Amino acid sequence: MEAKTNSPKETKKVAEKLAKTLVPGSVIALFGDLGAGKTVFVQGLAKGLGIRRKITSPTFVFMRSYPFLFQKKPLTFYHIDLYRGQDSGDFKNLGLDEIFAEDAVVVLEWADKIKEILPKKRIDVFINATGDKTRKISIKNRK
Ligand code: ADP
Ligand code: MG
Repeated sequence: MEAKTNSPKETKKVAEKLAKTLVPGSVIALFGDLGAGKTVFVQGLAKGLGIRRKITSPTFVFMRSYPFLFQKKPLTFYHIDLYRGQDSGDFKNLGLDEIFAEDAVVVLEWADKIKEILPKKRIDVFINATGDKTRKISIKNRK
């Protein structure tokens, strides 16, 4: 799926729509440069999942978790930002394997840093800045 957006609000809408297709165990890997709109996209995902807490960039912690309900079942939404790490070596011992589980929905910024340890079944989202306010978003289901 491809989309072009002209504002952060439109990017959030695309993410909200994707959120409606997510199920327990979904993993969303975000790719794109600094300032592309990955965190904005996460905000839209969270909104689409019914999470009301404000999502900000987890700059000093690499992960934040938010409880939410999926069809009345309690799940956890994990927002992971790998910006400050170097490569998979840094992340191998952080227990990510346990997070990729059926009682969670996980979204990762800078997912390319741990490409080797990402679950094969996942949704890849590429965000490209095509102008000051314009973004090209492509969403691909992998497995
Ligand atoms: P990243 O997490 O990829 O580093 P952020 O989501 O933190 O990027 O920041 C994206 C920046 O780009 C924000 O300041 C946002 O307001 C701005 N922006 C401008 N146009 C768009 C758009 N169409 N979609 C998303 N963000 C946009
Ligand atoms: Mg970010």
